[in-house]
Amino acid sequence: MIDVNTAQDLVLKHSSMASEILEVSLNDALDFVLAKAIVSEIHMPPFRQSAMDGYALNISNTNTYKLIGEIKAGDNANPTLKAGEAVRIFTGAPVPDNANAVIMQERVSVQGDQIITQMPLVAQMNIRPKGEQIKLSEIALEKGTQLKGAHIGFLASLGVTKVLVYNKPSIAIVVTGNELVAPGNPLSYGEIYESNGAMLSAVLRELGYTKTSIITVPDDYDSTKNTLEKAIKNHDIVIVTGGVSVGDYDFVGKALNSISVKEVFYKVKQKPGKPLFFGKKDAVSIFGLPGNPAAALSCFYIYVYPLLKKSEGSINPQLTRISMPMATDYVVKGSRAQFLKAKLQDDGVQILQGQSSAMVRAFGDANALVFLPENSTEIKKGDQVKTILLPLK
Ligand code: AMP
Ligand code: MG
Repeated sequence: MIDVNTAQDLVLKHSSMASEILEVSLNDALDFVLAKAIVSEIHMPPFRQSAMDGYALNISNTNTYKLIGEIKAGDNANPTLKAGEAVRIFTGAPVPDNANAVIMQERVSVQGDQIITQMPLVAQMNIRPKGEQIKLSEIALEKGTQLKGAHIGFLASLGVTKVLVYNKPSIAIVVTGNELVAPGNPLSYGEIYESNGAMLSAVLRELGYTKTSIITVPDDYDSTKNTLEKAIKNHDIVIVTGGVSVGDYDFVGKALNSISVKEVFYKVKQKPGKPLFFGKKDAVSIFGLPGNPAAALSCFYIYVYPLLKKSEGSINPQLTRISMPMATDYVVKGSRAQFLKAKLQDDGVQILQGQSSAMVRAFGDANALVFLPENSTEIKKGDQVKTILLPLK
């Protein structure tokens, strides 16, 4: 059995880069990763811009200025100001070339066509220099940036309409188990509702992966084999849940072996998710996650997430890790490395109730996973622990 770090390294080492690059309109680019750096084609701001509603003036040694006009946002006037002259100006308007300060209107008294300044003037105050945010030909965003809403806004402000991005992988979610019934149907004795399919496809959607299919398969060898073979043929990534343990009706391992999926690792010294499988068939990555929903989701964030990110060219494939003080004491059970559902609070990180692999409810409240290395014992309030931040939603 390998340890968590080795398993994570192996996953990243075996990720295959998306081969396809798409040109998408900026409006459709959210969550995609840039396949090419974006170079600004303009200065931003494109002109010296007033940061205030007030008066642009040509500083002189008096505090009285003669008003000679008005410039509002969108105007293209560029009047010449002599020393001691001012124009009324508004936020976002172009500052005349020979104005060298803008004073906010609250710090001025107006008398007819004159203003009297009521504070010392500093050269260039309240003027956003041309190109202050970014200059023509500078790199706006690096290749490998995953586009968030703020990035879309920034690129739109530079006039960008189209971007080159890596295609998203298509992902099969194969759920195994004779006991599983689709929600909406009555449960017979011994049956439970199938929830991993809905959960994983929703979590993938939260992360911007929409090309998913949920495939259900009963616990028999032939169906498992045929279904997996087809799923691997038609997808870039296959995530199987359940059937990877050592029970008599766990057929995933045998089926994958029979269709020549190369095992990269099977079993990791961790809780939850000991029977995790990861393998490759050509460029397709195959994960066998535990059937228990909370264990499946932990393994998803720790192993599948980084592979997804890396395979679409993201600069930062791992979830952010920080060191946090514990909000309370915690008694560790068992010696395996653990991932515990947790919540960041003002006074530190709180391990949540309901850590069982079968119980997924605590995940809804969690915004982090606390990682406790092998052989951790009692952890005290205030002790620093490695905390993995779950993606925000
Ligand atoms: P397995 O890994 O197949 O041994 O399953 C472990 C546990 O997870 C069992 O209690 C299963 O009933 C449960 N389980 C497996 N797959 C699912 C699923 N898709 N939805 C909900 N529970 C599941
Ligand atoms: Mg099962």
